[in-house]
Amino acid sequence: MKNKTRIYRTACPVCKAKVETCDIAADKNFPFCSRRCKFVDLGRWFKGEHRIMESLEKGEQE
Ligand SMILES: [Zn+2]
Repeated sequence: MKNKTRIYRTACPVCKAKVETCDIAADKNFPFCSRRCKFVDLGRWFKGEHRIMESLEKGEQE
């Protein structure tokens, strides 16, 4: 019996490219197709977080 390697398939959340990996833990970019897409998503997340913090600070000052 062959020892099958489990392959995980998904679509990159940023550019919708096909992403395949056999080791999620070792694939630092998963579920993104590349480092670039990972940073694009991270940038969006930080921008959203920034907006929340700004509005909170303003609320406290008023
Ligand atoms: Zn991508």
